[in-house]
Amino acid sequence: MKLFNIGKNALYISIIYLGTLIGAESFPCFFQKEITSQAELETVISEESAKLGIKEKIAGKFASERNLSIHRDGENFTIYANKELPLMRTDVQHEVYHYYKDKDKIDNPKGLTLYYLLIAEPRAALYQSTGLKF
Ligand SMILES: [Zn+2]
Repeated sequence: MKLFNIGKNALYISIIYLGTLIGAESFPCFFQKEITSQAELETVISEESAKLGIKEKIAGKFASERNLSIHRDGENFTIYANKELPLMRTDVQHEVYHYYKDKDKIDNPKGLTLYYLLIAEPRAALYQSTGLKF
């Protein structure tokens, strides 16, 4: 019985966690213009990089086979956006913030799932929705 309660509480906490994360990431999108072109994507990445003092160039690419994410290819980083889904400035802010805080952990083959789930994602979501840096 006690084990069942722990499982139930973990489920509730997971639902609250995911709901808060998705809500925080989605809310600012209602007030923004969608990014639709390659040129706009590159401009927004440069502007958001400059805000965080990032000197390296992060590339941007629309790709139908990938969801919004940042990936490493050797020394180069690219933010991929799915052309089928709406893309907002705050989405780019989120990915640029992953670079700013966790550049070395992006596409790191070691298992960092818990780190991403508990630290990197909430931190990027908070920056995306409030501009606060942690
Ligand atoms: Zn993220």
